[in-house]
This record gives sequence, C-alpha cells and structure tokens, in this order.
Amino acid sequence: MVLVNNGFLSLPGNYLFSEIARKVESYKNLHPDADLIRMGIGDVTRPLAKAVTDAMHEAVSDMSVAETFKGYGPEQGYGFLIEKIIENDFVQRGIEIAPDEVFISDGCKSDMGNIGDLFARENTVAVTDPVYPVYVDSNVMGGRAGSLLKSGKWNNIIYLPCTAENGFIPDLPESPVDIIYLCFPNNPTGTTLKKNELKKWVDYALEAGSLILFDAAYEAFISEEDVPHSIYEIEGAKNCAIEFRSFSKSAGFTGIRCGYTVVPKNITAGSASHGKGNLNSLWRRRQATKFNGVSYVTQKAAEAVYSDEGRKQCKDNIDYYMENAAIIRDCLKSVGLEVFGGINAPYIWFRTPGKRDSWGFFERMLSEIQVIGTPGVGFGPSGEGYMRLTAFGSKEDTVVAMSRFKSWNI
Ligand code: PLP
Repeated sequence: MVLVNNGFLSLPGNYLFSEIARKVESYKNLHPDADLIRMGIGDVTRPLAKAVTDAMHEAVSDMSVAETFKGYGPEQGYGFLIEKIIENDFVQRGIEIAPDEVFISDGCKSDMGNIGDLFARENTVAVTDPVYPVYVDSNVMGGRAGSLLKSGKWNNIIYLPCTAENGFIPDLPESPVDIIYLCFPNNPTGTTLKKNELKKWVDYALEAGSLILFDAAYEAFISEEDVPHSIYEIEGAKNCAIEFRSFSKSAGFTGIRCGYTVVPKNITAGSASHGKGNLNSLWRRRQATKFNGVSYVTQKAAEAVYSDEGRKQCKDNIDYYMENAAIIRDCLKSVGLEVFGGINAPYIWFRTPGKRDSWGFFERMLSEIQVIGTPGVGFGPSGEGYMRLTAFGSKEDTVVAMSRFKSWNI
C-alpha cells in the first residue's frame, strides 16, 4: 500500500486566504454593487519596467535563431546574471560573495521551502511569530514540526513572539535551536531590525552552532540608514547564514518568477554517520537533481533590473508603493490607530482598536467600509489583535480606502 507523508495530512488547509475569499464572496453575493478595495494580498500591481520587458523581447529573439538559441542552462544560473548580482547586491555593500555561492531560482518561496531537504528531522526549528507561513508549513512537510496544538502552534517549533510590546524585535530563544528563520524587512509586520539587532542573532548562531535562514525578499524597500540589506553586512554571518532574495517585489517579477539564494561555502552541518556536510555542495547537489534552472528569457529580464534604466524604473515602482505606504500610515495614525511598519517594507500592521480580535475587525472593515485587509492571527498566534494592509494597490484605491477610514466611526 502506498503510504503518504503524514506531514501533508497533518497540515490544516490554507485557511487564511481561502477563508478571506469565502467571506468576501458571500459579502459580494449579498451586496453585488459594493465597491470593494482589496488591500489584503501581497502581490504587485505595477507593470514590469520597460528595461526588463525590452530585455525579454531581445531574449525571445535570441531563442528564435539557431546561433543564439539556448537549451538547458547551467543549473545554478547564467554567469551574466550571477556577476550582476554579486557586483550590485554585495560588492557595493562591501560584501564578498563567490560566483559559486549564488544559486538562481524561480523565486524565494521555492528555495525557502526546498532548503528543508538538506536538514534532518531531528533539528529544532525556530520561527518569529507572526510569520510567513511557508517556513512553518515546509517544516511540517519535512516532519520537524510535531503536532498542531489548540493554540495554533506546532509543538516542536519554537515561536519567537514579535509584538508591539517588544517592538517587533524577537528575543533570543531560551532553549537551544538549530535552525532559525528570520525575515527582515518582515512580512507581515512591515517592521525590521537595525544592524546591532541582527548582530545579536548572528552572534547567537555562531555561539550556538545554529543556522539562520534569512529571507531578504523585501530589502529593496528599506529606506532607513543602519538597516542591513543583507545579513552578510554583519560580521561572521557567512559562517552561519543562508540568504534568500527575490525579484518578485523589488522588480515586479511575481508573475515571471526569479530569485536567488546565497549559500556560503564555509557553512557545514553535522551528521551522526557521515561526518560533516557542506551546505553549499549539498544545495548544489539538491538543485542539480530536482531543478533544471530558470529560463534564459527570465534571467535576461533579471539581468536588466541591474542596468541603469532598469534600476531607475524599478525604483520608481518601489517609490510608488512606498508613497501608498506613507498615505496608509498617516491616515491610520490620524484616526487614532496604533500603526507599525510601512517605512522599510510595503506592509502596514496595525492593532485592532478596543482589543477586538483580528477576524472580528476584518468583518467590520469589510461590511462597514468595504476594505479588505488580512487578519493578523492568520500569520500566527502572536498576530491576534492585529491587521495587515498592503501598499501594493493603485494610489487611487489607496486614497479612496483611506478616505473611508477617515469618515468611519471606528
Ligand atoms: N518571502 C516572503 C517573506 C514573502 O512575503 C514572499 C511573498 O509574498 C516570498 C518570500 C515569495 O517570494 P517569491 O515570489 O520570490 O517566491
């Protein structure tokens, strides 16, 4: 008989977004003319930069001519893109990364989910709470999470609360952990860590022999000084951290898919039977076996993100979203809400007034001002009592949504 991976069976359904969709659908059925504004989903809306689409057109032409046609590319990614990444994202910040430490992928979600292939079930995993659900769910699939408790937590995962009370800066774990997922700037809270705060984590990992899986998908939205764009800005991080990057939000690639992961060559992990494993070699082996690379056209598109025009055009889009973020922050504050994030990330996180639970406030926003947000509790127990709004909509919708907040008797 075929036996299934029990991890999959113990995963609850994707309750959050399907529940939101269900509630919105039933509201729409009752109010077909309602003018709903969606500020819940974290997807970009601005079109790709012209430099990017021009590069894609050229790459398509390359593919139509025998002399420049490309079949399978290098599994790790084309050198032309890896070079640009190293020069622009690392060397310019004083970080040395070797070309064979960069792995181009179809996005950060796949890599963050797949990296678990390298790790034994016995590892103890810590996540910040609230959290991007992929980190937890992929560990459930990998058998490292244990069982789901009534509280919504998995009994073998260590949750590090990030709330207004600790300024969204997680405390170091009280018991030993092997693998720590950090995402800064953070989805969903929109907050981030300064260099000295991230340094505490690097120092902890070096001391404890832990590995940090650092999700930097939102680094392009950082506006403040002293906020690290890469964990490798912190001394010692190349000995304890893998960094995940994405072109999804920085360059609008959610639909065309490209990201990359940096696995430094000197990070090892132990094995009871085989001595130490080098994570760079193991990831290379994993990718060579299960992944056949990102399309040439897409990698050419990603290369164009680093051209002068590409950089400027992508930055214009980021500025557009961050202007929305400022509009949302200012408005929510002006109506008396406690507001966080939105300065170094396109997410605004606010406390629901009157200690109302997240879902209760979601329902009120939907029925009273027809604005759709995301209930914070959907990202983990410490998200209860918060809501997330995204700045990825159009400016027009953002302004209308905020005018509804202003005239609303919250
Ligand atoms: N990491 C975080 C924290 C995200 O919020 C998202 C998307 O919302 C991703 C990764 C996904 O990135 P990609 O589109 O590159 O898979």
